[in-house]
Amino acid sequence: MVGSFAHRVLELLMQLPPSERTRSEAKAIAGLEWPSWEADDDYIALGLDSSATSGFKWKAWKAIERLWLLELPEEVEVEATEQDVKADLRGVPFRGIVDRLDVESGEFVVTDYKSGNAPSPRYQESRLSQVLLYAAAIAESTGRVPTRARLLYLGEKYREVSVEVTPERLDEVTTGLSDTWQAIGHACDVDHFPVDTGPLCGWCPYLGMCDEGQEAVIARSGSLPAGVVPASAP
Ligand code: SF4
Repeated sequence: MVGSFAHRVLELLMQLPPSERTRSEAKAIAGLEWPSWEADDDYIALGLDSSATSGFKWKAWKAIERLWLLELPEEVEVEATEQDVKADLRGVPFRGIVDRLDVESGEFVVTDYKSGNAPSPRYQESRLSQVLLYAAAIAESTGRVPTRARLLYLGEKYREVSVEVTPERLDEVTTGLSDTWQAIGHACDVDHFPVDTGPLCGWCPYLGMCDEGQEAVIARSGSLPAGVVPASAP
């Protein structure tokens, strides 16, 4: 939720005229947004005490502030924020919310914020699939192909990760999307959903009913997360 709050403040900041996109304005927006944020059921459900609330605010503010380490907000030409894009990509109904659609030298640039740390170069390519799919959807729905897609990582290891949008890259991500779509359709048709264990099993909401996932978590960390009852327990 820290990331969601930082996203919201940046969304409102980047809707302002360029000269007003300052740190102090961001702080003012954060202050104005906070009362409705802390009254939200999802936030209340976190059950944060005053010290944890301060930590939440501090973490969110640091993420917001790091934007200035990656770009000069007052120099960005913003076409849209929170842009809802819908398109048919190789027969797959695709919908996404693009954090920001910028314009550079008259061309679209797809920009997405990430509140976590930038990935190591090894994982960079795979993280860009999402913004490349946004680029494909924008191209399909508007007829204008973005020239660049980028991720702005606002965590402690902040960095911009970007890629040139080429026909080959768009072809690769839309083919991958179509393959996944067909695999899901096939699994539904035959009612067979093979599990695929991995490091994220420990956070999976289905862990309580997934034997293989539980075995993977125990093999990795020695025990199950609190509250998860082994699926095979009587
Ligand atoms: S716990 Fe089971 S369902 Fe969840 S991610 Fe792991 S393998 Fe998949």
